[in-house]
Amino acid sequence: MIDTGIAAFGDWIRAAAAKRFGRAKPRAIVLTHGHFDHVGSLKDLLALWDVPVVRTRTGNALPERTGRLSPADPSVGGGLMAAVSPLYPHKGIDVRRSLKELPPDGSITELPEWRSLHTPGHTRGHVSLFPSATGPSFQETRSSRSSRNRLGPY
Ligand SMILES: [Zn+2]
Repeated sequence: MIDTGIAAFGDWIRAAAAKRFGRAKPRAIVLTHGHFDHVGSLKDLLALWDVPVVRTRTGNALPERTGRLSPADPSVGGGLMAAVSPLYPHKGIDVRRSLKELPPDGSITELPEWRSLHTPGHTRGHVSLFPSATGPSFQETRSSRSSRNRLGPY
């Protein structure tokens, strides 16, 4: 599984996974970055599935810290999501018990058919994932297009 969406969607994600994969649980939860809309249901899903949480070695603003995450910058990116970003949850999530770091060579032990690439910009520790067979494809994201050298709010 890649990321876990916003909070309170753990049951919905579990039901969708059960519909598609039956009783099988994910081999791991791989985090692209630690923003609330990517890790919100992480604790709920870890309560259901005892699986490793894999994240980048260089990750900061990632949920293993129990303190607050970096403050939001509502001037980044523009639009409503950026404007209300100071209201987003910024409290860290303690998942140290489950945490594993992505190997620096881009491999993902639990997902051998996928590779990771450290792509800082949206956050300092952001990773992009791509199928090993096809290689990465690059697209300019809204935050990088509108605010080079600044971190995005979500
Ligand atoms: Zn984000």
